[in-house]
Amino acid sequence: MARSLEGKLGIVTGGSRGIGAAIAENLASKGCNVVINYTSASSTELAASLAAQLSSAHNVRVVPVQADVGTPAGAATLISAAKESFAGADSRFQIDILINNAGIAINGTISQVKVEDFEASYRVNVLGPLLVVQAAQPYLPTDRSGRIINLSSVSSSTGFVTQSVYGGTKAAVEAMTRSWARELAANATVNSVNPGPVEGPMYAANPPEFMEGIAGWVLHTPLMKAREGIDSPEVVKDAKESGGRPAYTKEVAGIVGMLCGEEAGWCTGQVVSANGGMIMQ
Ligand code: NDP
Repeated sequence: MARSLEGKLGIVTGGSRGIGAAIAENLASKGCNVVINYTSASSTELAASLAAQLSSAHNVRVVPVQADVGTPAGAATLISAAKESFAGADSRFQIDILINNAGIAINGTISQVKVEDFEASYRVNVLGPLLVVQAAQPYLPTDRSGRIINLSSVSSSTGFVTQSVYGGTKAAVEAMTRSWARELAANATVNSVNPGPVEGPMYAANPPEFMEGIAGWVLHTPLMKAREGIDSPEVVKDAKESGGRPAYTKEVAGIVGMLCGEEAGWCTGQVVSANGGMIMQ
């Protein structure tokens, strides 16, 4: 049976690890060729080995590209490297799927916010997706079959303590999503997904005051209750202490992958819930 994304090309920014790596795997498992972007030299080996593993497991082409998407040169490098790897013999090149996933979180209360942290956060989380979309625009499909998914966060609307900067960047991502849904209507659907807590270093790095601030939210999130016998004993134990378990990266990737399918073609300009019910819109 043909796979649902067979032969398509997807670009995943920040695809070397965490949610981005899970999204790359989801797309590859459906037959999609993937460009995995990352920025740090320390992730080069990780990205290369993920690319090799996904290629061989799913019989697709996966190419890692190191580029800082928060700079015009980096965004241009990402798209030109993708073109170099995937343009056909007739030079035809199309980006079917673009996942703006790369992001950073620098948390701090009002008095702790530094100008450089503000600038870095908005550069990577807000300017980055805009620059990548600018560079990708000439190569989007012209039949509305394209898919652009931006990673937002529940933090855009929850007002979590220490997240005036991070939450602001994610609110901006959602606002851009709505404008792009209109501007790119002939090319692609454009949606964002809004995870809550997700397993991985970004979640683990949250300071105690942040964890205290979200405890009530976690307790009231229906799908964050850990399941004895299904979740690992470690996850169940941690959840008892914090009130609930974070999402597995594949649970967020599954929602992103769903939005990339042909069947999702009538959904655009939305913030799609990917948070276990932490936010009910
Ligand atoms: P991780 O910290 O695990 O991974 C971040 C990824 O982004 C890495 O691949 C990193 O590359 C890449 N990256 C960072 N800066 C740049 C840059 N300037 N240019 C290119 N790539 C870059 O993140 P998560 O998987 O936790 O988060 C992914 C997305 O989901 C983010 O947008 C985040 O805001 C959002 N999110 C995460 C939540 C969570 O709890 N984890 C909750 C809600 C939203 P490298 O390996 O080279 O550093």
